[in-house]
Amino acid sequence: MVTISCDVCKKKIDSVITNRTFFYYGNHSICESCKDSLEFQVRSVVRNKEPFVIEWYEKFIDDQLGKAVQKGRI
Ligand SMILES: [Zn+2]
Repeated sequence: MVTISCDVCKKKIDSVITNRTFFYYGNHSICESCKDSLEFQVRSVVRNKEPFVIEWYEKFIDDQLGKAVQKGRI
């Protein structure tokens, strides 16, 4: 059995179901609760971003996750 843990909070994910209990963002893999926190955090920024460019979004998410991994939380 493959054990995967969240890049941010380091929590082990017991039943790994990609896109349900576990999510990939670029080079990072994170658990559901970190994903929720991330989405909450980026939502207000993304909502006001005009025009919306997917490359910008991917880089923004990656930057946020890079910081989150260093802090150990989103
Ligand atoms: Zn996590």
